[in-house]
Amino acid sequence: MKKHSNDPVISIDEIVRPTRVEVDLKILAENFNKVRKHVGCKIMPILKANAYGHGLVRVAQLYEELKTDYLGVAVVEEGILLREMGIKMPILVLGGVWGNQIPLFLKHNLAITASSIDKLKQIDDTSAQMKIKAKVHLKIDTGMERLGVHHYNAEKFLDAAYNFKNIMVEGIYSHFANSESSDLTHTLLQLERFNGVLEFYNKRSINPPIRHISNSGAILQLPEANLDMVRPGILLFGVYPSDKLKKTVPVEPALTWRSLVVYFKVIKAGNAVGYGLTYKPDHNIRAVTIPVGYGDGYFRSLSNKAVVMIHSKKYPVIGNVSMDQIVVNIENDSAYNGDEVILLGSDGKNSITAEDLAGWAGTIPYEILTNINTRVPRIYLE
Ligand SMILES: *Cc1c(COP(=O)(O)O)cnc(C)c1O
Repeated sequence: MKKHSNDPVISIDEIVRPTRVEVDLKILAENFNKVRKHVGCKIMPILKANAYGHGLVRVAQLYEELKTDYLGVAVVEEGILLREMGIKMPILVLGGVWGNQIPLFLKHNLAITASSIDKLKQIDDTSAQMKIKAKVHLKIDTGMERLGVHHYNAEKFLDAAYNFKNIMVEGIYSHFANSESSDLTHTLLQLERFNGVLEFYNKRSINPPIRHISNSGAILQLPEANLDMVRPGILLFGVYPSDKLKKTVPVEPALTWRSLVVYFKVIKAGNAVGYGLTYKPDHNIRAVTIPVGYGDGYFRSLSNKAVVMIHSKKYPVIGNVSMDQIVVNIENDSAYNGDEVILLGSDGKNSITAEDLAGWAGTIPYEILTNINTRVPRIYLE
């Protein structure tokens, strides 16, 4: 865009909403390199749910720059968006195929998760019609009871897969139900079952395709499950799947959720705050209003529980979280319109973690990160 001398000078800070998510791409790259060094096999970063809230497209571009092997998304729409944004690397859609989506997968060169002989047949027929060979990853259920052919029925499924002419079996995988637990009994059982299924390749003297089963919990705890490729999600974003796990890969959070003070007032003793009048100070307090709410993914269950950071000090959220605003009690301290607020993240001295927010809201860090709404702009630190 051409700039004229009489154009007003407007910085990005003045046009973008005060409430924003900042993602540090350098930290994401370091996390990826640490995981890569730790596992020593192929890596498929999992970027479902807007890359765990970090922004699907920019994060995918970063992994393409880092020459990672594969990307994983949950739904075909995410895969199509990445193709439309010019991402060329292999992409696997982890969710099932619904209705007549198969042509979309083929048109956009997205690998399909197949979990029944029926689906394989449909994929094969569509591939023949479109004259495009389908890439599939066979999904085996080894003890999650969610998606996939049961391990005890896998042989028939695998034989069928290798008999369809228009299907290229590029991978075979399973998923752990409890790999973040300190008790690995079920995880080891799942791995044993999966290895049992993979015996098929020895028996038939077929070269195995890419074999993968490990998510973040298993990457941290069970190196023998790495196989040909691992599928880390939350770990790449610097968050551990459970805070009880040994941090065998030292990753750092890359996301800071910021806002600004937009209003200051004194609330007199006895005057209640917000919808439902759930907080009533018994003395005069100073309070500030922050433009973030449950419509942004700042959960209503954080009402009267969470803290935010202003000038590195933590202050409580008072009253119910509204759709677009919260009120924070700063007692006798001062804060001015435009002062920085950290909702999630660190300022170098103090921090509020995804685990903290999850604890206050009664959920897990995954749900905190994936719920930061797309109406919150993402800003990338290169
Ligand atoms: C979400 C998901 C992952 C990544 O899980 P994390 O716990 O975030 O590492 C891996 N594989 C599948 C099939 C998934 O659905």
